[in-house]
Amino acid sequence: MKPAPFAYAKARSLTHAVDLLTQEDSRLLAGGQSLIATLNMRLSQPALLVDINGIDGLGGIALKVGQLEIGALTRHAQAERSAEVARHAPLIALAMPHIGHPAIRNRGTIGGSLAFADPAAELPACFLAVGGEADINGPQGPRTVKADDFFKGLFETALTPRDVLTAIRVPAANADTRVGFAEFARRHGDYAMVGLAACARADGARLADLRLAYFGVGPMPLRARNAETALARGDIDAAVAALRNDLDPPDDIQATGAVKRHLAGVLLRRVAKQLMEARS
Ligand SMILES: Cc1cc2nc3c(=O)[nH]c(=O)nc-3n(C[C@H](O)[C@H](O)[C@H](O)COP(=O)(O)OP(=O)(O)OC[C@H]3O[C@@H](n4cnc5c(N)ncnc54)[C@H](O)[C@@H]3O)c2cc1C
Repeated sequence: MKPAPFAYAKARSLTHAVDLLTQEDSRLLAGGQSLIATLNMRLSQPALLVDINGIDGLGGIALKVGQLEIGALTRHAQAERSAEVARHAPLIALAMPHIGHPAIRNRGTIGGSLAFADPAAELPACFLAVGGEADINGPQGPRTVKADDFFKGLFETALTPRDVLTAIRVPAANADTRVGFAEFARRHGDYAMVGLAACARADGARLADLRLAYFGVGPMPLRARNAETALARGDIDAAVAALRNDLDPPDDIQATGAVKRHLAGVLLRRVAKQLMEARS
């Protein structure tokens, strides 16, 4: 199918983009890997596409005061190949190869992935697991939203239709940082049936500040807080059992909720093992 007719504007600056987005029925265009498909299927029919690809300063990866800042227009492929991401955001580096295929990663952006907030997507869960922050600019000026407050529901985030996500910031990893990532997908590169992104701080033999973020099990990435408490004590069996209170995955075309809950436990055992291993 072809999209319904729309107008197109190339934003010259962030201010210009925010200004254009105040127009009725406008929609921001980044990598287009999700948006263009929804237009072609006529799931969405905006009157105006606001292209942010020409705006300087929305890309780039930089270490700033203990945080790694990743510009919203950074392509998945750039993050995948970045030495800074590998060193300072190892969880994101682990997840990158699971996002679609190289052609999608060449165009798709970090900002687009978070703004779209597909419940089965890898990056939103990583962002939640590391406790990142989103920098947003809109008609009321800039603001920052913490990952715990960013996801609101199915494909819903703290972004309004008038906002531009400009960058994400994640705490820079250090020698004590432990991360784990695993997912089940029907084929490599597919959206996950169930996935788990995790981050913690090694405190002797224990794990402190543990955050387990599941994806593909609900309307948005979800923390498994009861399992976090049990796993922080080092009790993997209790952590797997606690998932019963943390997750209630609905049936979908991929699997029943019961199968997804079982897979969530299998992933937890794999990820727990990764978390216990020291970084090389
Ligand atoms: C075949 C296929 C397989 C894929 N598989 C996976 C997968 O396994 N895992 C995965 O995570 N993703 C997957 N994707 C999606 C891919 O990661 C997309 O790149 C991503 O979801 C959207 O990023 P984008 O830059 O292309 O955004 P776009 O498609 O341009 O935009 C998506 C939405 O986000 C909004 N938006 C984009 N950027 C911003 C911003 N800076 N501020 C505010 N709003 C913004 C747009 O207005 C739009 O509503 C797949 C895509 C395809 C086509």
